[in-house]
Amino acid sequence: MSILVVGSMAYDTIETPHGKAESAIGGSVSYFALAARFFSPVSIVAAIGTDFRDEDVRIFAERAIDIRGVTRRDGPTFRWHGRYHEDMNIRDTVSVALNVFADFSPDLLPDQRRSDYVFLANIAPELQAHVLAQVASPKVVAADTMNLWINNERPALVALLPRIGILTLNDEEARMLSGEHNLVKAGRALLRMGPRTVLIKRGEYGVLQFSQDGMFAVPAYPLEEVVDPTGAGDTFAGAFMGFIARRGGLSESALRTAVVYGSVMASFAVERFSIDGLARLAWEDIDARYRAFIELTDSHHSRWTSQ
Ligand code: AMP
Repeated sequence: MSILVVGSMAYDTIETPHGKAESAIGGSVSYFALAARFFSPVSIVAAIGTDFRDEDVRIFAERAIDIRGVTRRDGPTFRWHGRYHEDMNIRDTVSVALNVFADFSPDLLPDQRRSDYVFLANIAPELQAHVLAQVASPKVVAADTMNLWINNERPALVALLPRIGILTLNDEEARMLSGEHNLVKAGRALLRMGPRTVLIKRGEYGVLQFSQDGMFAVPAYPLEEVVDPTGAGDTFAGAFMGFIARRGGLSESALRTAVVYGSVMASFAVERFSIDGLARLAWEDIDARYRAFIELTDSHHSRWTSQ
């Protein structure tokens, strides 16, 4: 089942304690698509500028990602500059230049309007609603958001929540949107605002999933070295939605496996700058780390319980 994703394609400048990348491919859609494509076909809706290199477009096209909805417009590509602290859970946005993204208001292609699975990446909630209104009868709609929209566009965001099935956001955003400091209370409060499932991303501490059936928690896959955390959340969402679309439903068991695949894929994304950790991956790498992840978190493993 194909997934429609709308959001940013970007050139990022990223500074972390491990070094710097300049004008590197970024944007929520880039990470999402490069993760989701291992599980399901992906169709992108985004805008790029005249400076977006053809070889960078090919990275997506060569991986069977549908880029018909990527429109090249006059002007520079969206640019974001982020700087991470020694504690890489903390980052500062040094600058943002919306450029061609400023008046982005996409019209979906006819086949995209029939999508069953939709991911509204981190863009203005009104724009998320504009895209969603064009999709005839989606089966699963997930959306991401950020502090900017929670602060500046709260009514539009709150109006969108009952129309989506899954909300993804980080811990700080969950607290801001719900008004609850405790994350369990925040998760439950967010469920009452509309979505059937809420996924709170907690960086190196992992993910908390809230649904009517209760809570599910997974750690982040422990790595010796995190090089660049940018895009971890979008990568998580890509693998999560990819698995849900492949499985074809939202059973609690599908949701839980999807959360594990999301965490596994995010661990690859943060091992290198920009999209490099994802672009070079093969399914065998994902499968091996998925097994390692299960073993890491399985307290009933036969090797121990037989003793
Ligand atoms: P994440 O690390 O998951 O928050 O995602 C980082 C990516 O989001 C970077 O590649 C940025 O290019 C992109 N990004 C940052 N700010 C925005 C924004 N206001 N709108 C859309 N995309 C953004």
